[in-house]
Amino acid sequence: MLENYRSPWMTEDLEQFSDMVKRFAKEYMEPNELKWREQHFADRSAWLKAGELGLILPDVPEEYGGSGGDIGHYVSVVQTMAANGGGLGLGLSHIVGHYILDSGTEAQKLHWLPKIASGEVICAIAMTEPGAGSDLQSVRTRAVRKGDKYVINGAKTFISNGQTCDMVLVIAKTDTSQGAKGVSLFMVDTNTPGFRRGNLLSKVGMHAQDTSEMFFDDVEVPVDCLLGEVEGRGFYTLMSQLPYERAQIGVGAVAVMERALRLTVDYTKDRTVFGKPVIDFQNSRFVLADVKATVLASRTFIDVIIQRWIDGTLDTTLASMGKFWLTERQGEVLDRCLQLFGGYGYMNEYPIGRMWADARVARIYGGSNEIQREVVARSL
Ligand SMILES: Cc1cc2nc3c(=O)[nH]c(=O)nc-3n(C[C@H](O)[C@H](O)[C@H](O)COP(=O)(O)OP(=O)(O)OC[C@H]3O[C@@H](n4cnc5c(N)ncnc54)[C@H](O)[C@@H]3O)c2cc1C
Repeated sequence: MLENYRSPWMTEDLEQFSDMVKRFAKEYMEPNELKWREQHFADRSAWLKAGELGLILPDVPEEYGGSGGDIGHYVSVVQTMAANGGGLGLGLSHIVGHYILDSGTEAQKLHWLPKIASGEVICAIAMTEPGAGSDLQSVRTRAVRKGDKYVINGAKTFISNGQTCDMVLVIAKTDTSQGAKGVSLFMVDTNTPGFRRGNLLSKVGMHAQDTSEMFFDDVEVPVDCLLGEVEGRGFYTLMSQLPYERAQIGVGAVAVMERALRLTVDYTKDRTVFGKPVIDFQNSRFVLADVKATVLASRTFIDVIIQRWIDGTLDTTLASMGKFWLTERQGEVLDRCLQLFGGYGYMNEYPIGRMWADARVARIYGGSNEIQREVVARSL
């Protein structure tokens, strides 16, 4: 759609990899999207296939079960997943994998990463609580050390992959007298007694992803479930990974906008009203011209972020700027595209309507866009 533009980070190897990811999406995601939306989770078989093809941890070293690629490989996965309804919540497993790779002990890496990479273990991240979303330091979930165990108590909500996960990375207070320094992260096997999933939450969009409450009632885990070896590092670990989570949301936003533009151009060429194709009305052409300019601007912006991510120089400010700006463009683009579909745009049968509903949450999760603006404002 954006003729003669090639992302500066794109290589021949990545193009081939990206073609393979698209084939996976065509074969395993596209035919299942509506079924997954109805059942509210993606099939385990798709996870296992993604694992077999090396799509879950493509940028993790092979010694830990990853595919030994780089961030460019992972970006190719995110783009394709987002453009195909985002049902397969691989991103959560990827983020947890990187928490472990960057902050875990050697034993933790060897224990978890191969299983995450293969899709055998689906991961979730449990930060948010009914009383603590944006203000993470106020979490009330407690982890108390008792001999060679931690005992975890608390409740979490809005957890993606909450119904299907096998391991959940939980943020809990290990020292209530401290603020950020009293927070630690725990890898909890969901078979542990005392762990309970709440109901599947009913959402406005993102119907193919399971989102759920979680309860921890005297959940006893061995001490080596603490991520890393030192208590109180949880908040800093989170902060070090959040830019990548936000960059990933931006990558998804751009991929969705690109697809929306393609779908809308095709539809308006096809649909005839008052004896002519919808695209022949000046309003449609002007809207699509605006959308095309927005999509190209968004693509070049995300490419700067991706390049820095690949180079290892992505900072919090840039990632937050991208997260809020790109997800807001995503909302506008989808809204304007949907309008050109008329009533059909509002039907679930058409991907544009599903994409529109799915996109709304991107301005809320991963740190709300107001919080992103706060982060950016601190750099002024
Ligand atoms: C579909 C979905 C999936 C999710 N998946 C996960 C997950 O996997 N794991 C997880 O831990 N969480 C998850 N979340 C939770 C998500 O990250 C939170 O909803 C988000 O961080 C906002 O927290 P909150 O909902 O408590 O809103 P609140 O923090 O109560 O915010 C309410 C409003 O106040 C604004 N606000 C808050 N603080 C400030 C401030 N300082 N300045 C200006 N405005 C402010 C917010 O931007 C928002 O508009 C998910 C949420 C949804 C909807």
